[in-house]
Amino acid sequence: MSTQSSWPEPQPVAEIAGYHAHIYYDASERERAARLRAAIGERFLLRIGSWHDRPVGPHTKGMYQLAFAVAEFPRLVPWLMLNRGGLSILVHPNTMRPRDDHLVHALWLGPALPIDPAPLPVQLSSRDQVETVPPANTQPSRSP
Ligand code: ZN
Repeated sequence: MSTQSSWPEPQPVAEIAGYHAHIYYDASERERAARLRAAIGERFLLRIGSWHDRPVGPHTKGMYQLAFAVAEFPRLVPWLMLNRGGLSILVHPNTMRPRDDHLVHALWLGPALPIDPAPLPVQLSSRDQVETVPPANTQPSRSP
């Protein structure tokens, strides 16, 4: 029925296992990225990843990653909208389609940056391979 269609069958949101936000910075932005990182840790229950001062994987600029649950999205993402400090942030879901998750399903706060599709699988073979939300490493003490 949809042989030539560019409008595929809608994907249910239940396919989203969790989200990442990638916060990009270069040497001149590292201090701002550090302040943002501290402020996030004080306010949100999530996993803050390591600093990557150099491009890694599909990311073409230094960044660190936030991994967070679906339920945290409506608190965290609006806060990032208001407080990103001029930094570019990629917010993407994790589903069975990692390449689309980064290139098609993503949203950008601030200017979009190039993403290298090469390391990203088009389609995972099973639901078990979808990246799940890791245990939080923050202890929030303030409300957003
Ligand atoms: Zn990611």
